[in-house]
Amino acid sequence: MKENAVIDFHVHPFADPSYNLNLYPGTYDLDLRGMKGQLEAAGITHICGSVLKREPLREGFESLRALNREALRLQEELGDFYTPGFHVHPAYARESCEEIAYMHGKGVRLMGELVHYMHGWGDFSERDWAEILDTAQQYGMVCSYHTPFDYDMGKMIKGHPRMTFVAAHPGDRQRVAEHIEMLKSCPNLCLDLSGTGLHRFGMLKHLVEQVGAERLLFGTDYPICNPGMYVRAVYREEIGSREREMILYGNAARILECSKSVS
Ligand SMILES: [Zn+2]
Repeated sequence: MKENAVIDFHVHPFADPSYNLNLYPGTYDLDLRGMKGQLEAAGITHICGSVLKREPLREGFESLRALNREALRLQEELGDFYTPGFHVHPAYARESCEEIAYMHGKGVRLMGELVHYMHGWGDFSERDWAEILDTAQQYGMVCSYHTPFDYDMGKMIKGHPRMTFVAAHPGDRQRVAEHIEMLKSCPNLCLDLSGTGLHRFGMLKHLVEQVGAERLLFGTDYPICNPGMYVRAVYREEIGSREREMILYGNAARILECSKSVS
């Protein structure tokens, strides 16, 4: 590991404005190089995550597949800087399972971030997801998913004990308490620090004390969130340097088994 390596487990990379989720369009209309530069300036040395589109998607799996191909294309350009994540959809179980096999063949091991509200599915009910998650587990995938969820994810997570799940977004105090409960009952679940949560001083220290640093992954949700603010926040919480290193780098590297290929 290089000194000061930071893996951002939760990014939605983009090469042009139609994929740039920044909430203030036109403010940072960057190309791929510009995007990478902005992340590196914040201290981030590697990113993970799925490509999303600003506009609503057309019905059918084809539009999700197009996002997944864009992720592969970006990886070709970004090389070791980027671990792509891909989308699946419970209404298209067969296509989703084929996509898992295809992505596995491309060396991709990250499914998600899955974002239900953007892709028109409601929850993680077993009926829709069992086949997809069974296949994902078989192929050794990691599943990153947006929270909150109305459905009790615990059932799905416990039903796939050989697969690592990563919940996104700690949220505010009540939501953090719910995440802690879930993390305690599901040993194969981690939490990424992206989105709402890290700006509440003490949240990270509290999480470390409650569930241990090994369950937490650094993440931002760039380009929606300011990456520099998140890196700084992790440095300013009073946790041990070993714990900080695990959160910023070690855990993600271990989970993705990519510690050799990322810097
Ligand atoms: Zn996200």
